[in-house]
Amino acid sequence: MSFLIKCIDCGHLAPYYPTSTTCPKCNSQWREAEYDYEIVGKTLLPRLQSRPFDLWRYRELLPIRNPNTSLSLGEGGTPLIRAVNLGMMLGCPNIYIKDERQGPTASFKDRQAAVTIAALKEAGITEMVAASTGNVAISYSAYASRAGMKLWAFVTSLVPAMKMREIALYGSQVIKITGSYDQCKQVAAEFANQRHLYQDMGARTITSIEAMKTIAFEIAEQLTTLQGAGENTPWQTPDWYVQAISGGMGPIGIYKGFREMQTMGWIDRIPAFAPIQADGCAPMVTSWKQGLEKAEVVTSPKTRIETLATGDPGRSYQFLRQYVNNTNGAFESVSDEDAFRAMHVLAKMEGISAEPAAAVAFAGLFKLIRAGVIKPSDTVVVNCTGHTMPAEAGVLGENWARDVKLMTSEETPQEGLLSALRQVAPERFPKIAIVEDAAEARRLIRRILQSQGSFTILEAGNGREGLALIERELPDLVILDLMMPEMDGFTVIEELRSKQETATIPVIVATAKELTPDEKDRLNGQIQSLMQKGDFLNDEFLEEVKSLIK
Ligand SMILES: *Cc1c(COP(=O)(O)O)cnc(C)c1O
Ligand SMILES: [Zn+2]
Repeated sequence: MSFLIKCIDCGHLAPYYPTSTTCPKCNSQWREAEYDYEIVGKTLLPRLQSRPFDLWRYRELLPIRNPNTSLSLGEGGTPLIRAVNLGMMLGCPNIYIKDERQGPTASFKDRQAAVTIAALKEAGITEMVAASTGNVAISYSAYASRAGMKLWAFVTSLVPAMKMREIALYGSQVIKITGSYDQCKQVAAEFANQRHLYQDMGARTITSIEAMKTIAFEIAEQLTTLQGAGENTPWQTPDWYVQAISGGMGPIGIYKGFREMQTMGWIDRIPAFAPIQADGCAPMVTSWKQGLEKAEVVTSPKTRIETLATGDPGRSYQFLRQYVNNTNGAFESVSDEDAFRAMHVLAKMEGISAEPAAAVAFAGLFKLIRAGVIKPSDTVVVNCTGHTMPAEAGVLGENWARDVKLMTSEETPQEGLLSALRQVAPERFPKIAIVEDAAEARRLIRRILQSQGSFTILEAGNGREGLALIERELPDLVILDLMMPEMDGFTVIEELRSKQETATIPVIVATAKELTPDEKDRLNGQIQSLMQKGDFLNDEFLEEVKSLIK
């Protein structure tokens, strides 16, 4: 693979050695790999067809001279999953999840570790130092063990114990630093300097940026398979790329990937970037919102999401600020609680269990859609950066499991089983009737309700059937659409209110329609609540449901 390292500050070109970390001319630590885009742009696409779907399929654009397959753990090639339920809930149908949990150690840091360790192995390096909030050290440890390298892993004491033990299990030396992540990085750097050991430099590590950019290549390639080619280009680009960030290495690399594809004519534009931070440690977001050119440092981060605790982003902020502004993107931050809630939504609606740091991206997505920054017609890719293994205590709250104790000595086995099952669930659950003509919307509302508690859900596909169902079953709550064939929702309400047995059954109207003042008058006093479709994620809806069925 022919490539050179170009200094971002003075433009000097030099060959690549992993251990030479500064520009030989001006000493800048900010450099990037440059390839012969003219040639690669023409020759790589046809070659891809016969290559496996992993990170190494783009090897002509990676800074490794001879990719060593014996180190591979199957990095890259993660699926791009359409989030149909989230899309319906948010009224934004084209949301895709880049599922980086499916990397070998379950976070997107596997790409960084795979490429960096390959480069270090190629250069004969056998020992290295990394500061980490957990996932980087886990990934490096896995690949270092395959490469026969020793890793000194500096982690802050707030990293979950499970993650620390995993690092140790791979054979790395864990060094716990009681202090902030930024301090932890300083201690690690000092240790590496004293011992002359190779150290990971975050976003200044050429191999890390190059590894991350493969996410952009995969997104464009996968979106092309799902949606077809671009208008005048072989590959397709989303409108948005959303990611939770700490130091911002991911989006810096991913932006470079999109830029390279644009240079090679594979795509014609770069998506809008939306980097998301946790409120308690959001130096880039607050600085961007104030229009600052340099980030104001957060010295003591106040988030429980340790993975995202970079308080001093340094120059990475300047790059990201430029990328966000160039692409009409947006920085945004969310609270820890928003992230935990998003974690539940993602798991319960899409079957994806993400770690709190990854959920920050989804909470950011919800916020940007609600604010109208991301439009309903936009195609959005959200990076699901890491898996929650295990779910941290505190995320679920109390009562998340039900205990069943089988067999006391006086009972026959049969009686014991029945009484145990009665403990699991009462015989009668609150009944909720969903009257809605769109089957997809019925399914979505059912799923939202099921994820919130135990209900008996009854469904009807038009007003007339709905009315008959309600009169027969006398549910505890009705969720009603307005525009339906046979009999519209307004008539259903009038009929219900005119009969004694159904007069007091609470009704929530869920509608996609903007109501006229006249229609609002007709509903006034007749229903308990009015919900716009696309706004079911709203806590109000769930609170409303809970308060209405007591
Ligand atoms: C490292 C990490 C991030 C933040 O990534 P950066 O691009 O380096 O800011 C987000 N989520 C998870 C799960 C991570 O491990
Ligand atoms: Zn230079």
